[in-house]
Amino acid sequence: MYSRLLLTFVIMFAGLFIPSLFAVLSVEQQSMLVELPSILFLLVIALSHFFKQGRSGFAALLMLVAYNLIQLRLQTPLAIGSTLLEYYFLVLLLPANLVLLLFLPERALFSFQALSYHAIFILQAAAYYWFIQPEQLPLVTHFLTAIEPWILALGDVSVLPNILLGLLICAVLTAAILMLFRDVGSDQAFLSALLACTLTVVEFEQPWISASMFMMSAVVLLLCILKRSHEQAFIDELTSIPGRRALNIDLAQLSGKYCIAMLDIDRFKKFNDTYGHDIGDTVLKMVAAQLTLVKGRGKVYRYGGEEFTIVFKGKSAADCVGYVDEIRLLIADYPFQIRQPIERRELQVDNTTVEVDKTVLVTISIGVAEGRSSMTSPEEVIKAADQLLYKAKEAGRNQVCA
Ligand code: GH3
Ligand code: MG
Ligand code: MG
Repeated sequence: MYSRLLLTFVIMFAGLFIPSLFAVLSVEQQSMLVELPSILFLLVIALSHFFKQGRSGFAALLMLVAYNLIQLRLQTPLAIGSTLLEYYFLVLLLPANLVLLLFLPERALFSFQALSYHAIFILQAAAYYWFIQPEQLPLVTHFLTAIEPWILALGDVSVLPNILLGLLICAVLTAAILMLFRDVGSDQAFLSALLACTLTVVEFEQPWISASMFMMSAVVLLLCILKRSHEQAFIDELTSIPGRRALNIDLAQLSGKYCIAMLDIDRFKKFNDTYGHDIGDTVLKMVAAQLTLVKGRGKVYRYGGEEFTIVFKGKSAADCVGYVDEIRLLIADYPFQIRQPIERRELQVDNTTVEVDKTVLVTISIGVAEGRSSMTSPEEVIKAADQLLYKAKEAGRNQVCA
């Protein structure tokens, strides 16, 4: 997590060097590159729709609108007309909306449930449009003179007043902290968008800065969408380890000697019946986490339900039995801490529930079979491992059969 956070900062700060690359390009190349962020944001919006990642879609929509406003309205010196006010609008509204989206529940971009989100954006757009009409210029001038002492209260180091810079830094920190503590995949996209916004408005007078920073942010948004789609397809949501689809793809690519272990939690149905499905889920997560500690470079998958598969490439059954037995012992000895809700009635107080900490022990049974890509298909090896797993169950559970 820290590495992704750091990487986002590095990528976005690296964007500060892109303007110098613009300078060496021809005018046609420059004007093509200026269009690139918009194209990328549109691509993100389309992908966010197909992959059901509304949050990234909204971030891309906001960035697309902000970028085009910069290109259309903010290319004149700030002192002219309403430009300064529009610059302040950008500095305040873009981060404010991004931070708001971080806290709102995820909604598909083009959905009925997202209408309230669109309404918020349209209201702002309408206010903005009203303000920039030439006949409002006296009002704008009056307004700017009125707010100037507030905005400049802490001085400025660049074209950006320090108070606004402070707000932007708070917005960036909010996204960074959220990313560390919850990480819903799109947080990285928001962090990059907020950094793009901050670095653009700080360096506003540098040519090509908005194209460079928004382009970098669009790339990060795109990568986040692709990464999350990959996870949705291949990573099991409950246990966060690769699922059946990933296993099938990896099995098809096996070559040479390999070994497959099938693992099944013992008497898990009874466990669910005793402690409830939610605690069963917690235990599944903890078992999956323990399994990933297996040695011999075994790759762990959730086969389905409370069954797992470990694939060892280039290993014989004799090698693997040692590794899986080690992991079986680790799990059998591992004191899983669960918070079990119990009825207060049982404690003869009243009928509300309280939670108590409890330690439970879980065991697994394992079947191990060896294969060679030239002789056996992975499906046959899985079947053999499955049969050995049943043997292990019949022989009394909590053991390995090879
Ligand atoms: P055995 O020792 O023979 O394997 O007994 P078992 O009870 O583990 O075997 P069985 O296959 O009869 O039951 C598997 C149980 O696993 C049934 C189901 O309640 C539970 N299970 C499967 N998937 C999940 C899940 O995602 N979450 C939870 N909590 N339980 C699950
Ligand atoms: Mg089972
Ligand atoms: Mg079982």
